[in-house]
Amino acid sequence: MTTKRYARVREPDGKTSWALVRGDVLDVLDAAPWDGGKPTARSISRADARLLAAAAPSKIVCVGRNYGAHARELGHEIPKEPLLFLKPPSSILDPGGSVVLPPESERVEHEAELALVIGERGRRIPIERALDHVFGYLVACDVTARDLQNKDGQWTRAKGFDTFCPLGPELARGVDPRALSIRLAVDGEVRQSGTTADMLFDLARIVAHISNVMTLEPGDLVLTGTPEGVGPLRAGNRVLVEIDELAPLGFDVAS
Ligand code: ZN
Repeated sequence: MTTKRYARVREPDGKTSWALVRGDVLDVLDAAPWDGGKPTARSISRADARLLAAAAPSKIVCVGRNYGAHARELGHEIPKEPLLFLKPPSSILDPGGSVVLPPESERVEHEAELALVIGERGRRIPIERALDHVFGYLVACDVTARDLQNKDGQWTRAKGFDTFCPLGPELARGVDPRALSIRLAVDGEVRQSGTTADMLFDLARIVAHISNVMTLEPGDLVLTGTPEGVGPLRAGNRVLVEIDELAPLGFDVAS
């Protein structure tokens, strides 16, 4: 499959639309790409477009401790099945935005992650058909208030602050996700460098496992865990997250 790239744009009239990315030109679609969106007569140059996060999910489902070295760096056992938690859609940060450090936390950390977007509704999806339900992939950062995660036990507060889910500007369809390099740098210094080949539970297993609990809707977002090297963010930091084949995610950190 040739790779196709999609972006969400705010049009000049304020309307939010999906668009097909053709180099520096964005062809506005009449519906979401997984709903069969077709090009309209409208095109926007990338320079004029305001790009939004390339996902607008009804829910964000995340997998914790899906890389052995990361589980160990936090002093945890290797999980025997995927460990799930949720982030609220209100935590999504558009490209060019800033993660805001909340006053309740003294230790906010970055977690670079491969994210996938569901293209087809499903419940109790068999593993062998699970990847058929995935529309495409993008770059994400699962920002986490580590002190609150440890203090609360439940992770909702630690993972759920506004701006704690920065997402990349393009959703890519037709990418093979099995061995992509993941890198995260803070102010140019590489902190995380891993590969999706080291996931404990692969994407098919994750999608099937989530769908045994809750119906996955088109557009839903799944964050698939972070490799080792997580570390603190400070106000003024500039963060860059890169995954092979995918448009990079950059964001600032503010207090
Ligand atoms: Zn995470």
